[in-house]
Amino acid sequence: MASAGHKIKVVCRVRPFLKTERADDAVAVEPNNVLRVSNPRDNTKDVKFNFDSCYGPDADQATIYQRDVRPLVETIFSGMSATVFCYGVTGAGKTHTIQGTESEPGIIPRAVEQIFMHQQRDALEYDIRVSYYEIYKEAVFDLLKPHDPGFAGLPIREDASRKIFVAGLSEKQVTSYAQFEGLYQKASGNRRTASTKLNNHSSRSHAILTVQVQWGEGARTWCGRLHLIDLAGSEDNRRTENGKDRMAESSAINRSLFVLGQVVEALNTGSLRVPYRDSKMTRILQDSLGGESLGMMVVNVAPGEAFLQDTNNTLNFATKSR
Ligand code: ADP
Ligand code: MG
Repeated sequence: MASAGHKIKVVCRVRPFLKTERADDAVAVEPNNVLRVSNPRDNTKDVKFNFDSCYGPDADQATIYQRDVRPLVETIFSGMSATVFCYGVTGAGKTHTIQGTESEPGIIPRAVEQIFMHQQRDALEYDIRVSYYEIYKEAVFDLLKPHDPGFAGLPIREDASRKIFVAGLSEKQVTSYAQFEGLYQKASGNRRTASTKLNNHSSRSHAILTVQVQWGEGARTWCGRLHLIDLAGSEDNRRTENGKDRMAESSAINRSLFVLGQVVEALNTGSLRVPYRDSKMTRILQDSLGGESLGMMVVNVAPGEAFLQDTNNTLNFATKSR
C-alpha cells in the first residue's frame, strides 16, 4: 500500500542481467520494499532506498501488473484519471515494463485488455478512445498521424472551463483489443528515435498513450482517463558525448524530467505550489495528476556496476519524489 499522503506511488523495478552483461550486482532487493545499492570499493557505505513496492529481477510482468497497476486502472471506471510513468536511463527496462514484448506483455497491453474485459462484464455502453503522442524537445507530436518532418508541434490550449488540451490531437475510437493493437503498432512506428553512444534506438522523447473511457446513464455522463508513459532516458548527457544538437536535446529532456520530479514531490508532500506549468508534459497532464487522481512512477534500474552512477542518480531523483 502507498503510505498516507502519497498520491503518486513510487515503485522500483530492477531488471535481470542481459546475456551480454557481466553479472556484477550493484543492487539488491531487501525485505520491506528496500533497495540496497552497494559501493564496490567500500561495503560500509551501502545506501538503502525505500519504495512503495520494490521488484527484483525475478518479478514477472503479471505480478507487477496485478499488484500495483490493476487497482489503478480500475479507478478510471469511477470517472477518475490515473497515470503510470516509467523513469530511468536508457537500457534500464522502461519500454519492457510499460510495453513489453509479445511473449512478455507489459502494462499497456494488459491495461487495455483489462478495460475491454471490464466493458464486456458491464451492462453499460462504454466509448473507448485512444490518443498517442510524443513530446520531443518540448514540442508535441501526434503519433496517430504519419510523421511530418517539417511540423513544429501541436499547441497546448485551455478551454472555457480551464481544461488544458492539445489542440488538433487525434483521438481514435477503438471497439476491440485487436483494433487497438493494430493502431498502437502502426503509431509506434511514427516515433522519433536517434542513435546515441548508449543505445542505437534510445528514445529521446516521452511517449504518452491516453485511453479515455466515457459512458452515460440517462442525462449524466462520466469520463475516466488512463495515461501510460514511456519517459525519455534520464541519462546525464555528459556521458553520451554527444554533439551540440544532442546536447540541446538532452537539456530539454533533463529539464522536463526535473519538472516532473518536482511536480510529483509537490503532490506527495501536499505542497501548495505544484509547478505544472514549467514543462509541456506536466502542463498537459495537470488535470490528471492533481485532484483525486492516482498515479504511479516505476523507477527502472539496471543491476550492474556499469550502471552504478546512473542508478544512484535515478534513486536520488526517485527518493526526492516520494
Ligand atoms: P529502456 O526502455 O529503459 O531503454 P528496455 O526496456 O529497452 O530499456 O530494456 C533494455 C534491455 O533489457 C532490453 O533488451 C530488454 O528486453 C531487457 N529487459 C528489460 N527489463 C527486463 C526484464 N524485466 N526482464 C527481462 N528483460 C528485460
Ligand atoms: Mg525504451
